[in-house]
Amino acid sequence: MKIRDVQSHVLRHELPAAEVFGSAKGWHTVRQALLVEITTEDGLSGVGEAYGPAIVNKTIVDELYRPRLIGRDPLDTSVIWEDLYGTFRDYGRKGMPIASISAVDIALWDLKGKALGQPVYKLLGGPFRTRVRAYATGLYRHQVPDNAGALAREAEGYAREGFRAMKMKVGFGIDEDTTNVRAVREAIGPDRGLMMDANHAYDVGHAIRLGQRVERYDIGWFEEPVVPEDVDGYLQVKQAVRMPIAGGEAEYTRWGFRELTARKAVDILQPDICACGGFTEALRIAALASANGVTVFPHVWGTSVGLFASLHLAAALPPNPPAMLATELLFELDRTPNPLREQLAAVPLTRTGDLIELPPGPGLGLTLDREILKRYSA
Ligand SMILES: [Mg+2]
Repeated sequence: MKIRDVQSHVLRHELPAAEVFGSAKGWHTVRQALLVEITTEDGLSGVGEAYGPAIVNKTIVDELYRPRLIGRDPLDTSVIWEDLYGTFRDYGRKGMPIASISAVDIALWDLKGKALGQPVYKLLGGPFRTRVRAYATGLYRHQVPDNAGALAREAEGYAREGFRAMKMKVGFGIDEDTTNVRAVREAIGPDRGLMMDANHAYDVGHAIRLGQRVERYDIGWFEEPVVPEDVDGYLQVKQAVRMPIAGGEAEYTRWGFRELTARKAVDILQPDICACGGFTEALRIAALASANGVTVFPHVWGTSVGLFASLHLAAALPPNPPAMLATELLFELDRTPNPLREQLAAVPLTRTGDLIELPPGPGLGLTLDREILKRYSA
């Protein structure tokens, strides 16, 4: 089997004003992604997604990776991974070159599954779970006068939908964060999980101060309290607050995750399959986490492609540690409005309350809706 072609699609959706949402990084006004489709000489095709600025990822895939992929055997996923990484290592050990490898790698695993007639999670070693428990990612900043009230109503909506856990944004100043966390906790009551994500908005002192202020609201984890470069800062926060610390969505490859795991800088590691290096590298990162006793709950963002790929990865992650009542993997399900996530799959996922079934069928189990792909192609 040989690769005949590699095509890339930039998808873009401008949010209507009423759907604009804010995190500590700023207002989010557009959703965009790069999809990479790889086709073989015998007519099979696989699709992957890259995290981050789509137009730059497109240039990397089209100009640098495509010429190295044509004519290769798509089943040689590790060989291809090392070739792409090694060839451009001097210029691209983190960020978009790795996100672009991720898209290629996900597409190759989709192809491998289709060629062998097996879902990707089977090829990864089999499912530890056939459905995953999702938490709702939302509770961003709203452009309204009473943001805390809007967050409380949004949180009640997720609880009504059946989510047993949800994650809210912090990073807007300690007083406002505390007000918002209190409002959401009071809205959902004591029995549902509540996590908070600062998107690395704080230095160590402020992160600790916030963590200590909201301890009484039973926070499931505190995500990205400080910038990803500050591993010592993560450790300082982890020692000072009584809640698990999470991070890793802005990290790349086994080398990037080595220090985070070896030093146990986080309790919960959150690699994103569309950023960290695809399935091939995510398995290596998960092995590092396992060897160091760190739990992996993947970060999930983006389109249906990233969502389906993340489900296959989540299915294949062993519980840490194994036990009769082991800590259940919590799967990130973005609830912000995004047609690229909700409409791109011709057959959508089956979700009952907060339980998502693994997609059936070979590869990623995903058939792209070509009309939707065309509508949002930039
Ligand atoms: Mg996050």
